[in-house]
Amino acid sequence: MLDTLIKHVTAVTMDDEQHIYTNAFIGIKDGKITYVGKIEPDEAAEKVIDGTGMLAMPGLVNTHSHAAMALMRGYADDYALQEWLNDHVFPVEGRLTGRDIYWAMLWAQAEMLATGTIAYTDMYMQLPSMAQAAVDGGLYANISNGAMCFNPDGYNFETDGVTAQNLEVLEKFHGADDSRVKLDVSIHAEYTSFPGLWQDFARFAKEKGLNMHIHLSETRSEHENCVAKYGKTPTAILAENGVFDTRATAAHCVWVTEEDMEILKEKNVTVAHNPVSNLKLASGIAPVAKMFEKGVRVALGTDGVCSNNNHDLFEEIKLAALLQKGVNYDPRLMPAYRALWMATRAGAFAQGRENQIGQLTAGFDASLILVDTEKPGLYPVHNPVSTLAYSVRGGDVSLTMIRGKVLYENGKYYGLDVEKIREKLFPILHRIFNA
Ligand SMILES: [Zn+2]
Repeated sequence: MLDTLIKHVTAVTMDDEQHIYTNAFIGIKDGKITYVGKIEPDEAAEKVIDGTGMLAMPGLVNTHSHAAMALMRGYADDYALQEWLNDHVFPVEGRLTGRDIYWAMLWAQAEMLATGTIAYTDMYMQLPSMAQAAVDGGLYANISNGAMCFNPDGYNFETDGVTAQNLEVLEKFHGADDSRVKLDVSIHAEYTSFPGLWQDFARFAKEKGLNMHIHLSETRSEHENCVAKYGKTPTAILAENGVFDTRATAAHCVWVTEEDMEILKEKNVTVAHNPVSNLKLASGIAPVAKMFEKGVRVALGTDGVCSNNNHDLFEEIKLAALLQKGVNYDPRLMPAYRALWMATRAGAFAQGRENQIGQLTAGFDASLILVDTEKPGLYPVHNPVSTLAYSVRGGDVSLTMIRGKVLYENGKYYGLDVEKIREKLFPILHRIFNA
């Protein structure tokens, strides 16, 4: 007996053969996909979902977020990055408690579920609170606390606050709920730390078998200052210090050189491309088409909501495709399928979940989304891939399922109490913004 059978759906599987099935059936049992194809399975199902007029695809993976920044949506827009960070973001962040971050992350996850995201890679602070929010939110989460220190003389890895939090979360939360929640190691960025710190955290990641998450060459000044300081690019100097010796996600990579791309390729680093944030902060446009040409894996992220201002990955999918066409004067670059691949398969690999999520294939987790296309704005569907990449917006997602459980459907949440979460935010917002 199947738990769920989705009938008569158009399935964009994102599998290795790039199968797209019309009028397809997706069988689900014990949280896994047991069947995808055009023939109706014989097995009866406890629950049947009529997928007529719907598109099914794997849920999206957001490979670079700061989910708790959901509190800062629309706060401090239209500033340059350093001014934005130093004069606006850091003072507010200095007032955030672990509980604040917990509720903010639940709020962000509600938005992600409603816009088709099932997994996210998050860098922030107060790691134990992040971990609890990740456990309670229901999404796949790779969480990390970005290590940063401006004073090499006062730094000691053993007594560093991030180390203590990493160890606590490694013990209490890493691998929670059958590895739905994982600890990553994070170095905030090259320009906010120094080689000794990089080496220590890189060694820790390697010893414990954890992924690495870092901001890399986001702005021109960051890139150029590093070359002036070390005689090497951020990519080169970090690689030399072992930062990419475990599975790594490098966010932004707007200002990387061709040699940097070769290093990223050789080290099998996934680039998290955040086109909306990069444009909003006027950091530039990452050379993503070139990265693909060089064989670098590129996934997608939203970055924090304070520089986006939402967690809608469909916006990133469309923009990622359009930007490369536009800046290279070539509409053949970054076709729709590739943009979807970035938001699914590439993200799944970045998180170390390439055997669980990112495709609709028997044996994979039943973590998928449905989009109803029988409405203005989405009908007709001449090409489901094109509809998903260029027409669908996050708000068009009808249903989000993770491991066979429907967590969101047509405005309703099954698991998260969004009214309660929003009420919890009132006093937090009052305290941190009226201080
Ligand atoms: Zn970021």
